[in-house]
Amino acid sequence: MTEPAVLRVAINAPLSRLFDYLPGSGTMPAPGTRVRVPFGRRLRTGVVMEVGTGSEFPASKLKRVRGILDESPLLSPEDLWLIRFVSDYYHHPIGEVTAAALPALLRRGRPLAPARQCLALTAAGRGEDPAAIARRAPRQAALLELIADNDPIDFDLLDEMLPGWRRARKALADKGMIETLVSDDDTEAWTGPADVEVEAGPVLNEDQRHALQAVRDGHGFRVTLIDGVTGSGKTEVYLHLISETIRAGRQVLVLAPEIGLTPQLVRRFRKRLGIEPVLLHSGLTDTARLAAWRSARNGQARLVVGTRSAIFVPLADPGLVIVDEEHDSSLKQQEGLRYSARDMAVARGKKLDIPVVLGSATPSLESLKRCRDGAYRHACLPVRAGGALQPLIRLVDLTRHDATDGLSAPVVAAIETNLASGGQVLVFLNRRGFAPTLICSGCGRIAECTRCDSRMTVHAASNLLKCHHCGAQRAVESECPDCAAQCRPLGQGTERLEDALRSRFPDEVITRIDSDSTRLKGTMSRALTMATTGEARILVGTQMLSKGHHFPNLTLVAVVNADQGLFSTDFRGSERLAQGLVQVAGRAGREKRQGEVIIQTAFPAHPFWKQLMTRGYHGIAETVLDERKSAMWPPFSRLALIRATAVARGDAHEFLRSARQAAEAAAIPEVRILGPVSAPMERKAGRYRAQLLLQSTHRGNLHRLLDALRSMMESSPAARRVRWSIDVDPIELF
Ligand code: ADP
Ligand code: ZN
Repeated sequence: MTEPAVLRVAINAPLSRLFDYLPGSGTMPAPGTRVRVPFGRRLRTGVVMEVGTGSEFPASKLKRVRGILDESPLLSPEDLWLIRFVSDYYHHPIGEVTAAALPALLRRGRPLAPARQCLALTAAGRGEDPAAIARRAPRQAALLELIADNDPIDFDLLDEMLPGWRRARKALADKGMIETLVSDDDTEAWTGPADVEVEAGPVLNEDQRHALQAVRDGHGFRVTLIDGVTGSGKTEVYLHLISETIRAGRQVLVLAPEIGLTPQLVRRFRKRLGIEPVLLHSGLTDTARLAAWRSARNGQARLVVGTRSAIFVPLADPGLVIVDEEHDSSLKQQEGLRYSARDMAVARGKKLDIPVVLGSATPSLESLKRCRDGAYRHACLPVRAGGALQPLIRLVDLTRHDATDGLSAPVVAAIETNLASGGQVLVFLNRRGFAPTLICSGCGRIAECTRCDSRMTVHAASNLLKCHHCGAQRAVESECPDCAAQCRPLGQGTERLEDALRSRFPDEVITRIDSDSTRLKGTMSRALTMATTGEARILVGTQMLSKGHHFPNLTLVAVVNADQGLFSTDFRGSERLAQGLVQVAGRAGREKRQGEVIIQTAFPAHPFWKQLMTRGYHGIAETVLDERKSAMWPPFSRLALIRATAVARGDAHEFLRSARQAAEAAAIPEVRILGPVSAPMERKAGRYRAQLLLQSTHRGNLHRLLDALRSMMESSPAARRVRWSIDVDPIELF
């Protein structure tokens, strides 16, 4: 007897395996096709990953596929390869990876090209005069008229133009005046030439030409790091590469951090390339996301620009992948499926045998090391294009200058000078809210979150205390619950800074940009317009303001407080601090006038500052790389972090202790096991958090151990009381 054909299906469930099904009676679905299958007591949508023969279960136990959702495979073998690779590399359930790779509507089983429903007039309807029925049936008349003007008209447009139209539909249909048509034309995904003239760009300078050549040389897969200071013309180099690739008939995928995917950038692509980039970011509706995905998949979209999840988008003729701001931590997803879109871009480029370009003014140490090792090409753009000078950086010693409301006299003086000479000022503080602490003036009690080991942030506009870790909020306590003395806000947040600047500079237009001030739809783009046109002369903001934006008039950046970063417990602390400061400094003096950067610090003697000012980001990067090498931290070794959280404190630790025992028992050489220890912020949102760190210079061994641990943890009875996760190449150790 021959073994039956078996479909191995990925189903969105937290289990690391595929599920075996027998084909239904009809056609045999190929890998990459979505199917409906019975799972537990429900029918679920899954993706066929493999068609094999035989199963570890007897054929009599296997259920049959109930339906096939795609006529031809939705995902290509390369797409399936990426899903498998991500699942293996990050030790994450394959069904969940598959779900992450699909737009929500496809995940839920909707068709790839949704049929559009329209209403059209019948011959009888065309002969009817809407005015004749307007008195008797005004709603029917309105609908009839609307269809007559837009025949046929689709349901979405009707919803928009005549809410309530559905009630009139039946009556008109019954009278034989209208009919429903189903069409599957796909105009919304149309991405042909944008209606703009293509603008010519500047002539590339020598460094840019070298960078371009570095990417062009050779065939197939290669990675080039374009390491260029802000304003050095990296984007110009991308534009040349994109245009060449598109002219050669291939598609380009550009990944950018959410915050870097600005309207400015998109406009620039559109104007210079003369095509409409197809966007994939978190702000899209489900329908728009599906349309964008579909046009990338069928090749209509020549340029796809997206945030990290766009790494999964299928491409009909991929030719180039660009990762802008490759150092940015938002390219790594920090929950659920913890993947790095940058690293997967390199993996995907290798599989597809196409070039990958990484760009940054502050490259990650991982990428710099790969350049050192000769694995990546290194193209440097050390000066600003168009002649702008790099900003001058100086420190203000807070131990010698008192700061009122966070602003020292030298900073205030510099703001005045810059404003007086027609400049624009950015005051940077990476802490939103009014004040990070509410303290009792009597007993010193500090308002804390009841669910986290953290302080509540004071938000004055809403008069609330908010926890920035779990989102809890309550009214501001004006009196201390313990001693009834007055409570007062302590320290600075952007909200308070804005107030302070308003009272010092009452005649200036001030715009604050942080996630609180830009929560409402449209407020962000309005604020950015005011900042870009120079209408707002003082900008206050968090890192939201520090990346990607181009404010032509900006002459001064004042950093209110960067000291937390100096003493970070995370081994990436100084790398992150240097990146953040260099990025925000890069906003200053991008055009004619040289920019100025002032950093307030209570620790001016800290060696970090000397290095930053004398040798810049690359000086710091070199030093940190040497330190990492002697301590064998990444990128000289690999890390994986196993996190566990539980309602009872002991459970998380106990679970990780048993994981540690299992790891030791697996006896895989060359992997260090550290912990378990409590997370630096042990309690968050009511759960206790602990972690186990695995470190190795041997990637294969580390992954073998993770495989073993994962099956043990999936089946461990102790796992019922905890939530656990594996984070491969973690970028934060808590
Ligand atoms: P980056 O992406 O490195 O921040 P951009 O590509 O945005 O740099 O360039 C910064 C500014 O310099 C832009 O206004 C751009 O038009 C201009 N620019 C870039 N390359 C050149 C060049 N070769 N000659 C003149 N101006 C240039
Ligand atoms: Zn909290």
